[in-house]
Amino acid sequence: MANLIVLGLLGGIGSGKSTVARFFQEFGAVVLDADAMARAELDREPAKGAILKEFGTSLLDEEGSIDRERLGDIVFRDPERLRRLNGMVHPLVRREVRRRLEELRAAPGATSGAVLVLLDVPLLLESELNALCDRRLFVEAPLELRVERVRAYRGWSGDELERREKNQKSIDEKRAGADYKVINDGALAPVRAQIRAIFQDLISRPGNP
Ligand code: ATP
Repeated sequence: MANLIVLGLLGGIGSGKSTVARFFQEFGAVVLDADAMARAELDREPAKGAILKEFGTSLLDEEGSIDRERLGDIVFRDPERLRRLNGMVHPLVRREVRRRLEELRAAPGATSGAVLVLLDVPLLLESELNALCDRRLFVEAPLELRVERVRAYRGWSGDELERREKNQKSIDEKRAGADYKVINDGALAPVRAQIRAIFQDLISRPGNP
């Protein structure tokens, strides 16, 4: 059985969580990306049929896949519909995360040293998956910079970012729930250096997790 250290990733929208995850991956961590898992679930049964029944077949794009932008536009303006969508997709994602962790734990050849698993799960603190984390890391980036980033890569306004963050625990709660903090307020090289140090700390410290 492999010794896993499960590290949960916290941070505001556009703070740099995916960027941080990429650096962890580079240093040898296994990243479990719940967003990617949710996207995969959206396009297969049982979630796909349930979503089309609830939200209508006009959500389908030309390829017959669910248009996630359209779906997002609906649910982020209507908390009840968001709750229903999450109820269809989240249990499947949780099951997949647990399955992957069991698989990694049982993996042959991983018996020496610890394996770091980074859980990149939106709304981690609100999720049952939070209980699976041995440690948590918070990505710190100023709001102005996050607004600038989401405007550039998603075309969102600052209002849109704030509306979506209202569905989540506050930045203060995320920060308070973390054992490690990474500052992402400028160039990428210092971010990489911070991740390297945290990776080493987690992997090498006796008694971890
Ligand atoms: P989301 O909450 O939307 O999932 P996120 O927290 O995962 O976002 P990233 O996707 O890592 O954030 O970063 C958001 C955008 O900002 C990306 O386009 C990324 O390339 C860019 N970015 C993040 N950090 C930096 C940085 N230090 N320098 C330059 N660009 C950055």
